[in-house]
Amino acid sequence: MEVRLKILYTSLCHTDVYFWEAKGQTPVFPRILGHEAAGIVESVGEGVTELAPGDHVLPVFTGECKECAHCKSEESNMCELLRINPDRKVMINDGQARFSINGQPIYHFLGTSTFSEYTVVHSGCVAKINPEAPLDKVCVLSCGFCTGFGATVNVAKPKKGSTVAIFGLGAVGLAAAEGARVAGASRIIGVDLNSNRFETAKKFGCTEFVNPLEHSKPVQEVLAEMTNGGVDRAVECTGNINAMIQALESVHDGWGVAVLVGVPHKDAEFKTHPIHFLNEKTLKGTFYGHYKPRTDLPVVVEQYLKGELELEKFITHSVPFSEINKAFELMLAGQGLRCIIHMDG
Ligand code: NAD
Ligand code: ZN
Repeated sequence: MEVRLKILYTSLCHTDVYFWEAKGQTPVFPRILGHEAAGIVESVGEGVTELAPGDHVLPVFTGECKECAHCKSEESNMCELLRINPDRKVMINDGQARFSINGQPIYHFLGTSTFSEYTVVHSGCVAKINPEAPLDKVCVLSCGFCTGFGATVNVAKPKKGSTVAIFGLGAVGLAAAEGARVAGASRIIGVDLNSNRFETAKKFGCTEFVNPLEHSKPVQEVLAEMTNGGVDRAVECTGNINAMIQALESVHDGWGVAVLVGVPHKDAEFKTHPIHFLNEKTLKGTFYGHYKPRTDLPVVVEQYLKGELELEKFITHSVPFSEINKAFELMLAGQGLRCIIHMDG
């Protein structure tokens, strides 16, 4: 059930950086990182019927076997077999790595390992898309865009005219803001520690900004004052545990919903007073914006081709593969959104 992909474009997501730094995540090395990408099927293994060499595809870090209870349920994208597992470093089929150097294994990452000209992935982690779609653009649908946009439209589900706070204005958070704009939110409040993000965020529908470092009060109090008691929805896209707690505490009692998207430190603990839940606030979390990768991603690609989604504005840099370290430098400096890495360079 495996396929070998020729990766043409890949981009850097903050999740890659966490596992490369391995400060808050289990260190697994040597390992090929990378999970946001686009490519072409080079060959297919035994048992693969839905993909053929030449197909244009997006690999996804969380899969869809289409057979388990989760895949059969409308309510879940947490496939029993292929759901995201950052600690898994080998293929499911035989527990071996498909990469090696001098007879020693090089491990996989998120079932994708796209910082490589060729990679082997489970066919259930591959979405076949319209070959007309430009792969250097739709590449960002394979993680960042769908994760943020889906967290808002599929999970937070803001009503028309509502107020939405977005914590963290990187590519994932700005995709969440874009989702709020499309859903008809009237106020979209961006929260980030990096004020340089605010100018860019306007293009993604943010109407107001809060930098928690510029206030003496906790950000949840600042937001409550701005909104007469709390925001209707909050979407957290930082990976920082304090921001996750602040997101829940910022929503209005009675109806507010907070959605966690950031990948937390492995030892993080969420601490809040239970009264928030008694006061009828809701806390949720999601991987990949609640999209089922094989079923939903081809549809999202069509939406882009019809001009309904603006992916170009998420792409601020591009480098050849030989200069991939520049993409890491930009992300660590909080500059730009997505940097597309061209594998042919
Ligand atoms: P990014 O680094 O481009 O953006 C993160 C932003 O959050 C930055 O602008 C940073 O200044 C801001 N930030 C950090 N701590 C903050 C705090 N305490 N309060 C307010 N703002 C803060 O990262 P990205 O690539 O956009 O990814 C965002 C998060 O989403 C990461 O944690 C990433 O691992 C996670 N992620 C989750 C999924 C999923 O399926 N759930 C998928 C992809 C990425
Ligand atoms: Zn990602």
